[in-house]
Amino acid sequence: MQSQKKYAQKLSLEFFPPRTEQGMEKLKTVISEIGAMQPEYMSVTYGAGGTTQEKTLETVRYIQTQTEFEAAPHLTCIGASQESVLELLDEYEAMGVKRIVALRGDLPSGMMDPGEFKYASDLIAFIRERKGDTFHLEVAAYPETHPQARNCDIGIKWFKHKVEQGADSAITQYFYNFDSYRYFIDNCEKNGIDLPIIPGIMPITNYENLIRFSQGCGAEVPRWLKCRLESFDEDDKEGMKAFARDVVTELCQKLLDAGAPGLHFYSMNSTQPTLDIAQALTLKNV
Ligand code: FAD
Repeated sequence: MQSQKKYAQKLSLEFFPPRTEQGMEKLKTVISEIGAMQPEYMSVTYGAGGTTQEKTLETVRYIQTQTEFEAAPHLTCIGASQESVLELLDEYEAMGVKRIVALRGDLPSGMMDPGEFKYASDLIAFIRERKGDTFHLEVAAYPETHPQARNCDIGIKWFKHKVEQGADSAITQYFYNFDSYRYFIDNCEKNGIDLPIIPGIMPITNYENLIRFSQGCGAEVPRWLKCRLESFDEDDKEGMKAFARDVVTELCQKLLDAGAPGLHFYSMNSTQPTLDIAQALTLKNV
């Protein structure tokens, strides 16, 4: 974990672009409330294949131009052309955006053409070539190994390649096993990978959604945690949420105490689950 200790610990947040006007109004309220945790930036997801392009742009524009916070758009390259990516980059640059979360994404079902980029590393190389250092580039990292990587060493090899193409820092897929992060960082250090790798944190509010989502993205919910979450009665949602909040808060503090360079919260566009955890944490700044 040594390589991570030199970085200041910062918190950041992730939102998805609301599909409706009502959702957008709710998100505006969330942004004003959750701002109390003083995030370094607020990122906005992007549907692979450009499926949320307009809504992502609208949400990024709102954060960047109507609030005091810095917006960081996610940009997935699968299914995209160089021309369409460049257009988006120009638009973000004109808005004053300084940070992009550069991703491959997964081809939406029914969409056959992977487009002009195969991997996130191709997108990073393209952004560096066309835009130099205009943007701070965040990339995705997988302490429990990306589902399509044959093994964790191959996962590290391609992660390193992504870093060599010009990534500045990384955000991990969420996890509930502290050791998966620790071993991942150790493996990065052994392979000469040195950049801030910020743990992605998913607060738990709904058991069924968590299990479904985790199966899709290859994040493990440990058996003991599943058992405990399942043991709450249907009508004791508050009890379940309080238990889950304590578990995730403990994981976050353990990560910070071990030297993680901050935390990135998958807020799911809700204030309280993330804010309750963030406000209970003690950060060390170097
Ligand atoms: P890559 O880094 O390209 O890796 C994908 C796979 O290919 C890995 O298995 C890797 O080992 C392998 N690989 C990489 N390079 C090569 C190569 N040159 N040759 C052979 N194999 C290679 N998805 C969305 O649709 N929208 C979002 O907004 C979004 N935000 C995310 C934010 C975070 C922090 C994270 C962790 C994930 C996010 N995702 C998002 C999900 C992400 O798009 C998927 O996990 C996707 O499957 C991989 O994207 P990547 O950028 O990690 O891909």
